[in-house]
Amino acid sequence: MDRAHNHQIVSKPVGRFAPSPTGPLHFGTLIAALGSYLAARAVGGRWLLRIEDLDAPRVVAGAADTMLCLLEKVGFEWDGEVVYQSERFSRYREILDVLDGEGRTFACSCSRSEILASAPHPGEEGPIYPGTCRNGARGTRKERAIRLRVDDRPIVFHDGVFGEQVQNLESQVGDFVLHRADGMFAYQLAVVVDDIDSGVTQVVRGADLLFSTARQIYLYRCLGQSEPGYLHLPLALGEDGEKISKRHGDRGLVDSENAARMLWGALDFLGQSPPPELRGLAAPELLRWALDHFHPARIPPHNRPVTF
Ligand SMILES: [Zn+2]
Repeated sequence: MDRAHNHQIVSKPVGRFAPSPTGPLHFGTLIAALGSYLAARAVGGRWLLRIEDLDAPRVVAGAADTMLCLLEKVGFEWDGEVVYQSERFSRYREILDVLDGEGRTFACSCSRSEILASAPHPGEEGPIYPGTCRNGARGTRKERAIRLRVDDRPIVFHDGVFGEQVQNLESQVGDFVLHRADGMFAYQLAVVVDDIDSGVTQVVRGADLLFSTARQIYLYRCLGQSEPGYLHLPLALGEDGEKISKRHGDRGLVDSENAARMLWGALDFLGQSPPPELRGLAAPELLRWALDHFHPARIPPHNRPVTF
């Protein structure tokens, strides 16, 4: 049994919810809040809140405060201070320097079109980086990204909903970016450093991040840390088959008026079978019911469409 797994059995989990403040609270985001909250709190664990405002151009002013206020109204209570990624750049730099110092990273000057032209196969999230600059930057771009060197040992992990996952980083992803050529820290680095620093032992989030998980586990190992347990939640899809978001219009937006109905819908979506008579409850009461009746094994491992 690995250390991370053992750790979860002997102590209560530390979970977290980490939304991006790119707009109002949406049904898809509510599912992630609810799933992570129940998975931690139903067994007496802690639940932390982090605002992922790393990508400044996408951040909408005031969205984080509006979201926190609404979460409070719904009845969510988080532990400790809210962490903002935008305040942690010096910490990300420190960890990047550690990895640089160990020779695990390299500067890459490839442009996107150069990577596309040299990549043998298209990957799930764009072209697989073929290692062009591993022994010195060979691309033509002046700006340099910092990439982490990966290897061909498969990363294997158990997801609490989607089951056993195996990924070969070298053939399925390639050396991945930790610091972008435009100066921004990559999500993969920030999320791992944040979760390590906050002592997070249980990551519950949308299944759109399932494919990122192997990269994050690899980073944990490079940093000499045990990875947390993972539980990916099915995605609510719009009629077009894409993850539901504000692009699909206003019907999926959560506000203080419809919060109880949306929460009931989120519980139903997560397979928790809330009785129809609970539709009349206020959101905080419904959330308390959910804490007493949460069964993670009932969460279905299928992304599926929702209608409101
Ligand atoms: Zn390169």
